[in-house]
Amino acid sequence: MNHFQYRNNDLCCEEVPLKDIATQVGTPFYVYSHATLSRHLETFSSAFAEVPHLICYSIKANSNLAVLKTFVNHGAGFDIVSGGELFRAQKVGCDAAKIVYSGVGKTETEIADALQAGILMFNVESTQELDTINAVAGRLGKKAGIALRVNPDVDPQTHPYISTGMKKAKFGINISQALEDYRRAASLPNLEVIGVDCHIGSQLTKLSPFVDAIAKIRELVENLQQEGFAIKYLDLGGGLGITYDAEQPPSPADYARAIIEGTRGLGVTLIFEPGRVMVGNAGMLITRVLYVKKGEAKNFVIVDAAMNDLTRPALYGSYQGIQAADRSIDGTIIADVVGPICESGDFLAQDREIPAFSQGDLVAVASAGAYGFTMSSNYNSRRRVPEIMVKNDKVMVVRQRETYDDLIKGETIPEGL
Ligand SMILES: *Cc1c(COP(=O)(O)O)cnc(C)c1O
Repeated sequence: MNHFQYRNNDLCCEEVPLKDIATQVGTPFYVYSHATLSRHLETFSSAFAEVPHLICYSIKANSNLAVLKTFVNHGAGFDIVSGGELFRAQKVGCDAAKIVYSGVGKTETEIADALQAGILMFNVESTQELDTINAVAGRLGKKAGIALRVNPDVDPQTHPYISTGMKKAKFGINISQALEDYRRAASLPNLEVIGVDCHIGSQLTKLSPFVDAIAKIRELVENLQQEGFAIKYLDLGGGLGITYDAEQPPSPADYARAIIEGTRGLGVTLIFEPGRVMVGNAGMLITRVLYVKKGEAKNFVIVDAAMNDLTRPALYGSYQGIQAADRSIDGTIIADVVGPICESGDFLAQDREIPAFSQGDLVAVASAGAYGFTMSSNYNSRRRVPEIMVKNDKVMVVRQRETYDDLIKGETIPEGL
């Protein structure tokens, strides 16, 4: 459920018509519903109420400070994948003991900063990384909490670019090698082995890959416990899918039931790293029609947002819902919704039956809260768009539209060039 609903003919975010925000801030812009963000976190967390758990929201899905603060206010921690994300987590006052650090390429500086901050644990993705964390921790006189990211080799049945838990993936270590690597980790003096981690992919719409992964991971946890490892945390990553089009992903309640069942009796605190399911349907990208171009072969609705603002359709061919901000528009057309960028891959929708938009109409691109703004760029020297948060009837600009000066920040023309 989300808080984007029509009132009369106007699509609203909570109590505010999107057209009013467009008048105030111009287009394009991202808009997030505070009530939806809060509700998603509450729903996910309460599904696991009966077991010890920690929700570490995956910052990369949407890293706006106001979004992060909303989650911190509801007790969440964070899954970070870079020094920049640690910086953001600290900016919003996240308790460092609720931060886990994932990713295959952590640098020594990033590791040192995370140790100084006092994070809960590193999800380690290779044996060389174990050595590096051990060395950095030794230099700082610290002990690093670690889990190994184990690759259970299950097919998440999602897009190959966001499938991460198969043998051929760059992520994690192979489950068949895990015991050996755990023993090695235990022999390193500045590491404290406290967890097991896995994350098998994103936008999963079936329970079975999660269930298969847990069965394999469960066996590993039991083996480790028998060997005397004090495994306190089982981090099951993120990946729960959302409805973009007609997908019917498991509800958080169904997901929780399967996981609680699959981990029963292990005596661990479960950690989750949800990203998309928290923010995806809590955000929209609002754009205005610049031109409508009717062709022999195709119709094009040319809007002022582009692939640099929302990359998912161009990158993965993904579906984003297209809605009219004013639903009194008569009739429909079959068209591509495209942006101004000089690339044929610059589309937000293709061959889609959509309202018969005219010049000046507002188009709402749905389900854009996850991997939307965070993957945006300045390609074609386009300024990144503002992010707006709505709370009840309040409209808050939580990131301003970039200026032309922002575009050239840090650039210099060397003297004598
Ligand atoms: C991207 C990522 C997540 C979040 O994935 P979603 O599909 O957005 O829930 C969680 N954990 C790790 C390690 C990730 O890389």
